[in-house]
Amino acid sequence: GADRAKNVLILMSDTGGGHRASAEAIRDAFRIEYGDEYKVLVKDLFMEHAGWPLNDMERSYKFLVKHAQLWKVAFHSTSPRWVHNLYLAAIGSFYAKKVEAGLKKYKPDIIISVHPLMQHIPLWVLKWQNLQKKVVFITVITDLNTCHPTWFHVGVNRCYCPSEEVAKRASLDGLEPWQIRVFGLPIRPSFCHAVLVKGELRQELEMNPELPAVLLMGGGEGMGPVKKTAKALGESLFNKEHGEPIGQLVVICGRNQTLRDALQDMQWKIPVKVNGFVTQMEKWMGACDCIITKAGPGTIAEALIRGLPIILNDFIPGQEVGNVPYVVENGAGVFSKSSKQTATLVARWFSSESEELKKMSENALKLAQPDAVFDIIRDIHELAQQQGPLSQISESLTSSFIQPV
Ligand code: UDP
Repeated sequence: GADRAKNVLILMSDTGGGHRASAEAIRDAFRIEYGDEYKVLVKDLFMEHAGWPLNDMERSYKFLVKHAQLWKVAFHSTSPRWVHNLYLAAIGSFYAKKVEAGLKKYKPDIIISVHPLMQHIPLWVLKWQNLQKKVVFITVITDLNTCHPTWFHVGVNRCYCPSEEVAKRASLDGLEPWQIRVFGLPIRPSFCHAVLVKGELRQELEMNPELPAVLLMGGGEGMGPVKKTAKALGESLFNKEHGEPIGQLVVICGRNQTLRDALQDMQWKIPVKVNGFVTQMEKWMGACDCIITKAGPGTIAEALIRGLPIILNDFIPGQEVGNVPYVVENGAGVFSKSSKQTATLVARWFSSESEELKKMSENALKLAQPDAVFDIIRDIHELAQQQGPLSQISESLTSSFIQPV
């Protein structure tokens, strides 16, 4: 009935690209805005209910990312529609039953996919089970610009695009204007509402109160040329003439323990903080003056909200390439693959070119969309109201008959 809490099932996979971060942002925003009205579950449905290759997605992904050339081939060779449709048809018939079991278990009224490969199969199952009118199906895209066509499915109730560029692609791929909304990339609510004072943050985080600070990271896994860049910054931010530092460095290694160990063992001439995986990213960003990172969508969107000029030093071929022009063409940062060049640029920003740093910070703030996650869940709420009292999915799922593909 109408009084029952509605079940929201968010489908994600830990394959980088900010999928988990976006999923958790949506869950937290639902909790803040609607409390008990919604019961939100974040699930790696394929991981729990399917066999290889889908439950191996994370491992395959990490392997492919390490071998960037392969990832490029995988990304582009699955791009033509007929190729991935055949591929998905083959695995789809095999896994549909398991996806069905997942739907039965969680009984979602609303399904939100934040993963490029989690449209087709769940939507097929809903169709076979005659549930497509009873379950609201939503895609939240987590690529800022160039995105894989498997993100787009004409059968969705809504497709939330983080940028106009992505919306254009959705439209070209056949989605109707009523399906497409552009609010921005969903970022954890702690980023949207935080009122942060740099001086207080630096005290709390035990940083130098005066020196300008650069934040260096590489996504959740600590990827990219972090170590090389840290070393170069250790030199460039030290003024040999005066024998004193002109800046300080914060490194966030994420889950990369090897990187963390290596950096912690090093001797520095400037103040340096080396962290593993941090949970209060908004504080570290709020305490710094610019950021060096690979082109991960989550990190970029968060840095924009904090008004941090961005130096992009790496990207995952395929999915993250488009994030580079998004930052550079909007004047919020630069791309530099050379660690030396990056370090020299930061030293200039912290001395003679502070005006440029300020300008880029302003541009970053202009691009920022801190309210995106709340705009998205409010729109979903409206959609769910329109759909009327949603029926119990379990009743409709009692028949276990599945049609062949
Ligand atoms: N992150 C974090 N703590 C860390 C490292 C990363 O909370 O120590 C978060 C970061 O703030 C961002 C996400 O992990 O929200 C990384 O997403 P992104 O899209 O940048 O890259 P991915 O790691 O998913 O490829």
